[in-house]
Amino acid sequence: MYFVFLIVSYPALKITFLGTGTSTGVPMIACDCEVCTSKDTKDKRLRPSIMVESGTTTIVVDTTPDFRYQMLRENVKNVDAILFTHPHKDHIAGLDDVRAFNFFSGKKMEIYANSLTEEALKREFGYAFADKKYPGVPDLNLNTITHDPFSIGDIDIIPIQVWHMKMPVLGFRFGKFTYVTDANRIDDEEKEKIRGSEVFVVNVLRKQAHVSHFSLGEAIELVNGLNIPTVYFTHISHQLGLHQTIETELPKNIHLAYDGLSLDMGM
Ligand SMILES: [Zn+2]
Ligand SMILES: [Zn+2]
Repeated sequence: MYFVFLIVSYPALKITFLGTGTSTGVPMIACDCEVCTSKDTKDKRLRPSIMVESGTTTIVVDTTPDFRYQMLRENVKNVDAILFTHPHKDHIAGLDDVRAFNFFSGKKMEIYANSLTEEALKREFGYAFADKKYPGVPDLNLNTITHDPFSIGDIDIIPIQVWHMKMPVLGFRFGKFTYVTDANRIDDEEKEKIRGSEVFVVNVLRKQAHVSHFSLGEAIELVNGLNIPTVYFTHISHQLGLHQTIETELPKNIHLAYDGLSLDMGM
């Protein structure tokens, strides 16, 4: 009964892809390949992040090195919380720029992360956690994510733990939408938390195998096993190929995400 109630009461969400590229971004600095020199705007990929909005609550997943530009591009005026997937630099480097939201809201930024990511944030942004802080540093409130579901405003969130070689990484389910990045393996128990999603976003680096990211073939096999109606791939390398070319090679229900793409998830 509780589960039915939860689904019925879930708010409509707008999902925006802030960035869909791998850690180097696309184009990659100093690369002359056909993808990096493509004129197609869908081949321009900032570092990977999404924004999830209900009518009253705005959440950003990860603060990439491109966070400042991503917020400006999407004209974001308020962020209620930031969820972190894992502590790799392409997912945390932009955290300092939440200062702008601190200045305008007069509030701390609510940060949600697992303990591994918390440690890295405290180490890499030590000045924001110092006892005596320099004026104007990011004002942050850390919230620890465990295995349990949690809520931010009217948005209920189920954390999903996936594997990035040996590093535990968090994916997140928001109602019928699930976002997983930086994985190359998902345990069966965690896959069950993804099942039933209407839209599933998962990372694909390139066609060739990689030690810590799904390849194109591995990701297609994963999503076919989960029976998801609509799938988008993200965290894409210049090595995957041109957006237009790869898009035509994919099964009908699977697409490459691109920067600026937005999805309306009616509930
Ligand atoms: Zn990454
Ligand atoms: Zn990573």
